[in-house]
Amino acid sequence: MKIFNTLTRQKEEFVPIKEGEAKIYACGPTVYNFIHIGNARPICVFDTLRRYLEYRGYKVTFVQNFTDVDDKIIRKANEEGVDYTEITKKYIDEFWTDVKGLNFREADIHPKATENIEKIIEIVSGLIEKGFAYEADGDVYFTPSKFDGYGKLSHQPLEDLQAGARIMVGEVKHEPMDFALWKAAKPGEPYWESPWGKGRPGWHIECSAMVNRYLGETIDIHCGGQDLIFPHHENEIAQSECYTGKPFANYWMHNGFITVDNVKMAKSAGNFFTVRDVAEKFGYEPIRLLMISTQYRSPINYSFDAIEQCRASLTRLYNCRDGIDFEMQNASHGEVDKELEKMLAERRTQFIEAMDDDLNTAAALAAVFDAVRDINTAVVGKNASAETCELAAEVFDELTGVLGLVYNRKKEVLDSDIDAMIEARATARKEKNWAEADRIRDELKSMGIILEDTPQGVKWHRE
Ligand SMILES: [Zn+2]
Repeated sequence: MKIFNTLTRQKEEFVPIKEGEAKIYACGPTVYNFIHIGNARPICVFDTLRRYLEYRGYKVTFVQNFTDVDDKIIRKANEEGVDYTEITKKYIDEFWTDVKGLNFREADIHPKATENIEKIIEIVSGLIEKGFAYEADGDVYFTPSKFDGYGKLSHQPLEDLQAGARIMVGEVKHEPMDFALWKAAKPGEPYWESPWGKGRPGWHIECSAMVNRYLGETIDIHCGGQDLIFPHHENEIAQSECYTGKPFANYWMHNGFITVDNVKMAKSAGNFFTVRDVAEKFGYEPIRLLMISTQYRSPINYSFDAIEQCRASLTRLYNCRDGIDFEMQNASHGEVDKELEKMLAERRTQFIEAMDDDLNTAAALAAVFDAVRDINTAVVGKNASAETCELAAEVFDELTGVLGLVYNRKKEVLDSDIDAMIEARATARKEKNWAEADRIRDELKSMGIILEDTPQGVKWHRE
């Protein structure tokens, strides 16, 4: 697979540190608000990257953090007169509602900044010892001019960056580009004890600490939105590489911006949409499709028309898949349609070639829709054999699954089926076959049916 590496500005063959494994870190949200449409893009894109690498046989370890202490969180908590943890807890819950709606698979680890203070202090102390950072009035600052590699990710020489920077009145830092690793606590702010007094971490250091703790000194892929390249990711590299003396991440992937009706989305521009706003009107899945409808580095324009188009495309996908199932119901055994078999094998190759080319989901989707056309022509309403239907279903599920699409197909469960299963469970219990009784209960649970044993007998309800 080839990946466009922001570090080298080139498409490079992906060569993992350890063969067959991929360690990925994605910067997560600062939890003080609902996620917006712009946040949905890295969620969907890097979830798709993870699925694709797994599909190609990699063992992926995926870590995404929550920034759960920061100026914006503290400001919001003060405005609402609540403890900051109430804000972060609420918006982490809301985050889960939205990302599960988008079919984002939970990462292997979702560490929080506040759970990593010890590691943060360890790294900050190490950076002071090595002479890259210094303490001033309870703050600790990192000095970029001491790190030769500063600017290598954003491709800006340090002199250019320095030219635009100033030390503000009241600031205690030595050089204009110095940034805070640790901030002394102001009255009323949350704080932790540290060698420099009561304080809390700066934003950038948490990612360096979490990568180091959960994934190691060097990782395969670090990803996030394009807006994080500078200063966040540049600073992460500086902190980590000065601390460990080793490369921090071998590949850097950054997704492009979202515009709304061709204007950059901003609260001040009045064109700001949360994922929740859009999902309530159109559902979550069209958002996921929109986010992967373009190669991840290109900009995406969100508009009413664009989301409507995604809805229409999804209808085509669902109709095709339902069509296969419908055909299957009356299909008899027979030969596999060789022509279809050959065409779908080509679609799969086309799909893999697209995804191998820097995760070109737009071209991969084109392969999926070509496969849909092939299936509609050869299977739906065509008296296809059961074997042909199975082949069509398999390829369809395989390709749409890698993209994380078509995930809302809930089978209708009839009351009569449920009653029959409850009956079978009662029989198993009478025969003291507890394992079978439990298995039936679990199967019903997976269908969204909850059983309740009452003195009047078994009652059930849907989740
Ligand atoms: Zn980060």
